[in-house]
Amino acid sequence: MKRAVYPGSFDPVTKGHLDIIERAADLVDELIVGVLNNNEKTPLFSVEERVNMLKDVTSHIPNVRVEAFSGLSVDFCKKCGASFLVRGLRAVTDFEYELQMAQTNRSLERGVDTLFFTTALNYAYISSTVVKEVASYDGDISGFVPPQIAERVYARIGHTKQREVKGV
Ligand code: ADP
Repeated sequence: MKRAVYPGSFDPVTKGHLDIIERAADLVDELIVGVLNNNEKTPLFSVEERVNMLKDVTSHIPNVRVEAFSGLSVDFCKKCGASFLVRGLRAVTDFEYELQMAQTNRSLERGVDTLFFTTALNYAYISSTVVKEVASYDGDISGFVPPQIAERVYARIGHTKQREVKGV
């Protein structure tokens, strides 16, 4: 059984994340999306909300499981019986940090290798931070996140755009 873990904050999940999830799920028998419960950051959504949003947008992919975790990604991999960590690379700015993390993780746990996916060009500029920033100015985030996620972001941020989101 080939298993991989895709760890991240997913605050909230974007179309860029979803693209990586769909492509990684095609490569392995089981993909576990690990939602990091990071005490240092103050997220817009609680870890339970982020897990539920991810479950919602990945329900069409049978070999994807979503779980919350805290601590080191490699420890979560070991707990899940996964031998791969999945990460996305958007631009060169991601590269330095991701390379360092991959090397650190490999030295912590020999049995876990990192698989990098280059992002789809049309999603390369999308980040959870940008989604929140645009929504906070009542901008249109429908190109960045699935409709049910856009609705929840506007509801949390408290803007009128919520009413304009189609298809929910
Ligand atoms: P983290 O806090 O771990 O960076 P994120 O939720 O921001 O968590 O990102 C999780 C992973 O998804 C990272 O590998 C990141 O590079 C990747 N990622 C983020 N945004 C995109 C995107 N638009 N397209 C593809 N991959 C992305």
